[in-house]
Amino acid sequence: MARELVIVKIGGSIITGREKETINFQGLSRIADELRDACKSKQLIVVHGGGSFTHHLSADYRLYEGAKDERDRINAAIIQGNMMRLNLIFVKSLHERGVPAISVVPSTSTITREGRILKFDLEPMRLALSSGFVPVANGDISLDYSKVVSDSPTEGLVGYLAMQLAPEKVIIATDVDGTFTTNPKKDSCAKLISTVDERNIAQVIEAVKPSDGYGGEMFSKVASLYGISASASSECQIVNANVPGRLYGAITGEKVIGTMIKARPNGLKGLY
Ligand code: ADP
Repeated sequence: MARELVIVKIGGSIITGREKETINFQGLSRIADELRDACKSKQLIVVHGGGSFTHHLSADYRLYEGAKDERDRINAAIIQGNMMRLNLIFVKSLHERGVPAISVVPSTSTITREGRILKFDLEPMRLALSSGFVPVANGDISLDYSKVVSDSPTEGLVGYLAMQLAPEKVIIATDVDGTFTTNPKKDSCAKLISTVDERNIAQVIEAVKPSDGYGGEMFSKVASLYGISASASSECQIVNANVPGRLYGAITGEKVIGTMIKARPNGLKGLY
C-alpha cells in the first residue's frame, strides 16, 4: 500500500538558537531523528521556518513593504541566502541519518501577489515524492507581482501545498503545546485549546490575531490549518516539537497533546 502523505512544518523556533543566526543543534538533531523514524511509515514533505536566521532581518529590512530600491533587493537576497544556509544544515542532518532529503527552494519557483501564492511549480516536488525523496522546503521570500518581493509566512506555503496535494495530515510543530487562550509565554493563566472547530473558531481568531502589528505568530498557524481542514479535509494539528516524541507521535497517528483543527468541509463560508 502507498504510504500516506503528511506535510510537516517545523518552526524556526525549534531548530535555531536565540542568538542571531545560530543553530539549536540539540533540537535539530532530535527533530531529524524523529523525522527519520516517521518517514519509514509515512511519506513526508517538510517545510521549515527561519527562526533566528531571518526574523531580525525581515523586521530590520521592512521586507513586508516589498522592495523599492537596490538596497531592498540586496536585503531580500541576503534573507534568501540565509534561508538556504539553514536549509542546507537541515537537510544535512537528515542525510547523516540516511534520509534522502532533497532541498526545495521556494523563492525560485513561486510567484506571489501581495504575499499570496499565485504559482508554485509542484512538478519537481511530485516527482521527488514519487521517486522516494523527502522534499524539504524552507520558508522563503517570494518574487511578487505587486511588491517585487514578499516575505509571507511559511504557513502560506504549507497551505498552498496542502490544498494542491490533499495530504492525510498537516502538522505545524512549534515551541508551545498548541494554541492557548492567550500567549502562554506571557500569561501563566493561558489555557490550551485542544480543539478548534466551527463552534470556537471566531473566538480563537479574535484571541490570536495580531494587535498593532505585534504578536499574531499563532494567527497564521490557526488560519492556515483551518483553511486546509475546510478545503483539503486533511487532519490538522499544532504540536510542541520541543517535547521528545510528540512530533513523531503526531505524524504516525498517536494521540498526543496539541491543538486539533477541524473545520466542516467548505467551513470557511461565513468566516472570512
Ligand atoms: P515558530 O518559529 O515555531 O513558528 P513562532 O514564534 O512563530 O514559532 O510562534 C510560536 C509562538 O507563538 C509561541 O512561542 C508563543 O509565544 C506565541 N503565541 C502567541 N499567542 C499565542 C497563543 N494564543 N497560543 C500559543 N502561542 C502563542
